[in-house]
Amino acid sequence: MKATQFFVSTLKEAPADAEVVSHKLMMRAGMIKRLGAGIYNYMPMGLRVIRKVEKIIREEMDAAGAVECLMPVIQPAELWQETGRFDKMGPELLRVKDRHGRDFIVQPTSEEVITDIARQELRSYRQLPKNFYHIQTKFRDERRPRFGLMRGREFTMKDAYSFDRDKDAAGRSYDNMYAAYCKIFDRFGLQYRAVAADTGAIGGDRSHEFQVIAETGEDAIVYCPTSDYAANIELAEGVALLPARGEALQAQAKTPTPGKSTCEEVALLLGLPLAQTVKSLVLATDELDKDGNIVKTQVWLLLVRGDHELNEVKAGKVEGLKGGFRFATVGEIVDHFGCKPGYLGPIGLKKPVKIVADRTVAVMSDFICGANEVDFHFTGVNWGRDLPEPDLVADIRNVVAGDPSPDGKGLLAIQRGIEVGHVFYLGTKYSKAMNATFLDENGKPALMEMGCYGIGVTRILGAAIEQNHDARGIIWPDAIAPFTVVICPIGADRSADVKAAADKLYEELKALGVDVLLDDRGERPGAMFADWELIGVPHRVVLGDRGLKEGQVEYQGRRDDAATKLGVNDVVGHLK
Ligand code: ATP
Ligand code: MG
Ligand code: MG
Ligand code: MG
Repeated sequence: MKATQFFVSTLKEAPADAEVVSHKLMMRAGMIKRLGAGIYNYMPMGLRVIRKVEKIIREEMDAAGAVECLMPVIQPAELWQETGRFDKMGPELLRVKDRHGRDFIVQPTSEEVITDIARQELRSYRQLPKNFYHIQTKFRDERRPRFGLMRGREFTMKDAYSFDRDKDAAGRSYDNMYAAYCKIFDRFGLQYRAVAADTGAIGGDRSHEFQVIAETGEDAIVYCPTSDYAANIELAEGVALLPARGEALQAQAKTPTPGKSTCEEVALLLGLPLAQTVKSLVLATDELDKDGNIVKTQVWLLLVRGDHELNEVKAGKVEGLKGGFRFATVGEIVDHFGCKPGYLGPIGLKKPVKIVADRTVAVMSDFICGANEVDFHFTGVNWGRDLPEPDLVADIRNVVAGDPSPDGKGLLAIQRGIEVGHVFYLGTKYSKAMNATFLDENGKPALMEMGCYGIGVTRILGAAIEQNHDARGIIWPDAIAPFTVVICPIGADRSADVKAAADKLYEELKALGVDVLLDDRGERPGAMFADWELIGVPHRVVLGDRGLKEGQVEYQGRRDDAATKLGVNDVVGHLK
């Protein structure tokens, strides 16, 4: 590809709404363009990366025996009513009506549609196992779309669905997909970890997330460096990881300040975990005297189950920081704070917010932990108080770095991550709801055992950048770079030799199948280098008159501190 034929459009500054580095760099590198909240145009430079990600996924899915199909973005509501998800799913599910007033949804995933296909097409045990996948546009009306492609509303997902005759076979399909995911993420060239995860709204009881390790991740991974144990704790925005115990104790000495205390401080003061297996919301109120000193602090704890709906909220109340603990009703909390019930959703807020006049400060957070692999999760632990509803908090555990691993094989460490893939064993949840049966060896109908497997295609771009960047820009791993090599001729307009050498190198690399771009824009060297460093092309070859006279070109890897000289005739061998 030649740069003049292609579309290169870079920016010096990132737009103000870009908070994280991947979003900033993708905007500056001209990879995406915002069309609306959480909705982006994939510009040519970004689309090349998406296509490479998709290609690797396709190759590994095909190699693992999955078959590709393509299901519609807009799906009839009837199927979603069969499983109950049309009503259950809440506002993340975008519902639309056609001109006849019929209900449709824009797919956030495709369990219903694939199960509908399976119940019609897969009739005999002889047709099983089967694994269908597609790479398709998804829409989720996220509460807070942000971070560019990482939490979009419209995004691309690869979702696969396996159908098996029994639990054992389904387990094999699951393991097969797990192995394929490892190959896929290895090929991306990203540092990742597979962790045990919550089965969430989709249900089922076997689930792993593939997490790309990055400081800016929204999730936190608890793992044991000396064993296989790894689990996810989804963290809320603005919630830092609980520091090691010593620091935690220090932090406990602090006094909460109305309007200033962060939820972490309150949680620390309470000795609460920032990692919990229930979603929770902490509201702290301070009663002040006329001089503004805190007389009493009340902390309210809302434990939220399921998919964030208010009717599933239970509230607990802690009187005084060292006091007892009891559950309050949502109504009580709503009355006390005088806030709208809608306000009590588990929203993560960066800063404490005042929700009632000057005497109350509300500190909110959204702790979620998904360390829920059956028989192997954090259970039976609490906050050291008499909890009146042990079942509700049974999964809660205060996890800090250095705690013993649940498998007894070492100590836990904590690291931030970005969920890029997710494999679920679904069991018969969907096949039962939709009566998807096949005839077994005895001619008897049996429910299909299912699994589902997602990869956030577009999120991969953000995650890769969060993990691989420097002050100058993106550093793509070779496998998913928009171009692998960029050739930068200096003064090609003045020197026929430079032009000829650049063209020759370009043709040779192209013939070898190297994904090479020739920068024939005639830009100054500084501007040219800045562009490609920002865009993140992993290998650069610079050709200039002076070097060529000595038979040399300059090669620089994107992570290298300086260029190295290579013989003109050696450069192809070096790059192929
Ligand atoms: P999250 O916890 O980040 O909201 P999720 O658990 O809801 O993700 P899944 O239902 O497991 O997501 O979907 C499979 C994959 O799709 C995720 O692992 C992630 O890579 C991707 N994904 C989910 N939501 C988004 C989004 N809003 N934008 C981009 N990618 C997404
Ligand atoms: Mg989600
Ligand atoms: Mg998740
Ligand atoms: Mg998930």
